[in-house]
Amino acid sequence: MDSYLKLIANISDETRALADQAGSLPCPTGCFDCCRNTATMSISLAEAKHLSIGLKMLPHQIQKNVQEKAERTINKIEQEGYSEEKVVMAGVESAEIIKGHVEGECPMLLSGVCVVYDYRPIICRVWGYPIQNNLEVACCKKTFLDSERKYKPLPYNQYWNDCKELSIPLNSKQKKDATHRIPICYFVQYLLKSD
Ligand code: SF4
Ligand code: SF4
Repeated sequence: MDSYLKLIANISDETRALADQAGSLPCPTGCFDCCRNTATMSISLAEAKHLSIGLKMLPHQIQKNVQEKAERTINKIEQEGYSEEKVVMAGVESAEIIKGHVEGECPMLLSGVCVVYDYRPIICRVWGYPIQNNLEVACCKKTFLDSERKYKPLPYNQYWNDCKELSIPLNSKQKKDATHRIPICYFVQYLLKSD
């Protein structure tokens, strides 16, 4: 966990430096549009382990609300023939069936607030800034407004590779694959259902 905490501290330094260069934080106050279609977003085991700390610290009623949102998403996508494995394999394609619907919202978004903010996954820490994603520079359309290429993008590829490395020791014997990921709706369901 220490290495993962170092990684997110480093990300925090790099996002702060980019915000300083740009002269302000990139996101308008109160915007959470990017949390609206992330219910099936897949995360690494290193991110999941950290996120589990934040979820377990939530008051019982909030955990219940988060779990119910995750369950609603899972019911919807499974009615459409998806399973956990299919969601991971389909990637963003699986988000299309829930996009724009309440089932598409991140289960940890309650009343427009991220209830696990300090424990959020890596992409949630960097989206809004220009990021190097494979060969492309990606950026939220609402931020940097066509000026993102003026800045050196955050090395998201490197962050993701670090997450995969840190996830290897967390894999079960059956899942030795370093790229193993889990959709957040399923992760929440596994973690909170029995509570
Ligand atoms: S974890 Fe938080 S920041 Fe990330 S998508 Fe969910 S609500 Fe948004
Ligand atoms: S990244 Fe974009 S959509 Fe997300 S909070 Fe910032 S401005 Fe809003």
